[in-house]
Amino acid sequence: AIRVEDLHKSFGHLEVLKGVNMSAKKGDVVAIIGGSGSGKSTMLRCINFLETPTSGRIVIGGEEIAMRADGSPASRKQIERVRSRLGMVFQAFNLWTHRTLIENVTEVPVHVLGVPKAEAHDRAMALLERVGLADKAATYPAFLSGGQQQRAAIARALAIDPSVMLFDEPTSALDPELVGEVLTVIRDLAAEGRTMLLVTHEMKFAREVSDHVIYLFEGRIEEQGPPEAVFGAPKSERLKQFLKSVA
Ligand code: ATP
Ligand code: MG
Repeated sequence: AIRVEDLHKSFGHLEVLKGVNMSAKKGDVVAIIGGSGSGKSTMLRCINFLETPTSGRIVIGGEEIAMRADGSPASRKQIERVRSRLGMVFQAFNLWTHRTLIENVTEVPVHVLGVPKAEAHDRAMALLERVGLADKAATYPAFLSGGQQQRAAIARALAIDPSVMLFDEPTSALDPELVGEVLTVIRDLAAEGRTMLLVTHEMKFAREVSDHVIYLFEGRIEEQGPPEAVFGAPKSERLKQFLKSVA
């Protein structure tokens, strides 16, 4: 469903990604772990071109994204099409604050994808139901807890029925007692076979839900493999140190 080849990204003189290769098949959950500044967010952001890669190839749903020599997308249209297959959930709940939850969830389907209002509404209600927020449909984000806001953000990302979900530390801004409810929603998505790339510092959770784990160190994949191997029998000294530091 998604493939990244030899991805490089520099910010000025700072080389943040130094040739990353990864892929996820349909239904795979790939966890991406690594220390602060190792390039995890940059990698996710390059995948949907929120950042312009310096070089490399990105293939989503069999479609290679055409890039110019400078890494910028060659076709706006293509990027928009590809983005409409990606659902992204960030650390900070980036809901539209002046819209109710149901409006947040129906906005893109109605105004970008042209889904008829009634249909988008029914689907949005079903999604809010799934994340346990049906009774909050008419509420504005400011009146919700962080965990509720993040669940709403997940519902909004799902509203476009993305072929791949990208999560960037979806629980790291939450109070500890609210983490569980968001992980439960993500766990359900994994169980139903959603393809996901998940950047997380919740190691126990990564071990539990992922099919494959990538450990990034200074912009390179230092070690990768099935969760039992990466967490249970790490080979790299750096990974061993990292796992100790987050335990
Ligand atoms: P964290 O765990 O703290 O979220 P990360 O692995 O997600 O870290 P990135 O956000 O990808 O790390 O950042 C990798 C490096 O790139 C860092 O050194 C960061 O300062 C740098 N960086 C990221 N975005 C930019 C930018 N827009 N301009 C300049 N440097 C940037
Ligand atoms: Mg990050």
